[in-house]
Amino acid sequence: MGETRKFLLSEADIPAAWYNIQADLPKPLPPVLHPGTHQPVGPDDLAPLFPMEVIKQEVSQDREIEIPGPVLDVYRLWRPTPLYRAHSLEKALDLPANIKILYKYEGVSPAGSHKPNTAVPQAYYNKQEGVTRLATETGAGQWGSSLAMACTTFGLDLKVYMVRISYDQKPYRRMMMETWGAECVASPSPDTNAGRAILEADPDSTGSLGIAISEAVEDAATTPGTKYSLGSVLNHVLMHQTVIGLEAQKQLEMADAWPDVIVGCAGGGSNFAGLTLPFLKAKFDGAATRIVAAEPAACPSLTRGTYAYDFGDTAGMTPLVKMHTLGHTFVPASIHAGGLRYHGMAPLVSHLYELGAIEATAVKQTAAFEAAITFARSEGIIPGPEPTHAIRVAIDEALAAREAGEAKTILFGLSGHGNFDLTAYERYLNGDLQDYDYPQESVEAALQSLPMVAD
Ligand SMILES: *Cc1c(COP(=O)(O)O)cnc(C)c1O
Repeated sequence: MGETRKFLLSEADIPAAWYNIQADLPKPLPPVLHPGTHQPVGPDDLAPLFPMEVIKQEVSQDREIEIPGPVLDVYRLWRPTPLYRAHSLEKALDLPANIKILYKYEGVSPAGSHKPNTAVPQAYYNKQEGVTRLATETGAGQWGSSLAMACTTFGLDLKVYMVRISYDQKPYRRMMMETWGAECVASPSPDTNAGRAILEADPDSTGSLGIAISEAVEDAATTPGTKYSLGSVLNHVLMHQTVIGLEAQKQLEMADAWPDVIVGCAGGGSNFAGLTLPFLKAKFDGAATRIVAAEPAACPSLTRGTYAYDFGDTAGMTPLVKMHTLGHTFVPASIHAGGLRYHGMAPLVSHLYELGAIEATAVKQTAAFEAAITFARSEGIIPGPEPTHAIRVAIDEALAAREAGEAKTILFGLSGHGNFDLTAYERYLNGDLQDYDYPQESVEAALQSLPMVAD
């Protein structure tokens, strides 16, 4: 038999609990502030939007939070996910034997990405607390489709506000949402005050995640029986994703490989955090592992943003969170990695960056797609446009190690497949894909839009 390509766990090896890094932070997270009073928010402020269990998890200091049985039952449809040793990619890159690349693949979920890892528990907790309907936003549709799958599993209605440009250009995930029984409208929509205000100012608005969030939050706050659900950024979302890293640790033991560097793509930060937070615990205890967030050069919140209190949405309806932000009014260029087009980075990831526990690097989309082609032609899987950024950085790490004559083990997160994103590949292969820089004027404009909150 040849060398092992994928390291598989059994269903019994799915973690019984999520890992909550808040228990181990060297410095606690800054508080979330009320948008009106600028005082720390309490559970009552968040109760119109989220179920109480989710609010508790958001601020919990418990190291482990048990995964409910009904959630594990759904997880078992696709978890544990495989960890691959990228033998064919290593060969394509002509790497020596002491440089290894491994990847944890989340594309085996029904929706094709890591997002069901949090969609399922969020739908479950809402159902438990008597909620009948959820409202949410989606960019390229990965989150909307994941939540649609989770809602149909637990018998909840769902309305998804989908960023207009994706709604028009990427019909397949809308069809997935509808197949799973959700209602999906283009955002800005005429269905909310926030949407109508934007349409009045700009009838041709292509939308943004920030606008769609405003619409979904307004829907949830004003419709009886309805709550809101967010697919990234918040602490509880990142914690639900830690099943990725916890499984990966067991699989790396099977592979007898411990990573020197771990790379994940970061939009709002959830798949990156899910893969890396369990390794950060080891890092706080002295492990030398480097942890790198790969973000798009067109929306570089960590590497070019300001660390400040800002709104999560465009209309300024959400609580204020301290994060690396490009400003809540910033509308990123229409890069193909729709899941990476968010103005802010998760407060937890931002905090870890400020603490120096993680690194970040910005990647241009043509360089990312070039890496994706090398990957697809060696490992077979066609990556989603978002994880192509992580693949670029992983390949560059490997090539740098070869150049330096160093041994290195590299782990990256392959957060989803790109089977519904083939127009992006078509454009790359035809030479039509452009790079967008994030201009310095935008950095300054972003600063102007920040709510001035002393901290
Ligand atoms: C949504 C998405 C992302 C970006 O979101 P994060 O919260 O940063 O993980 C990355 N990869 C895939 C496949 C996605 O669907």
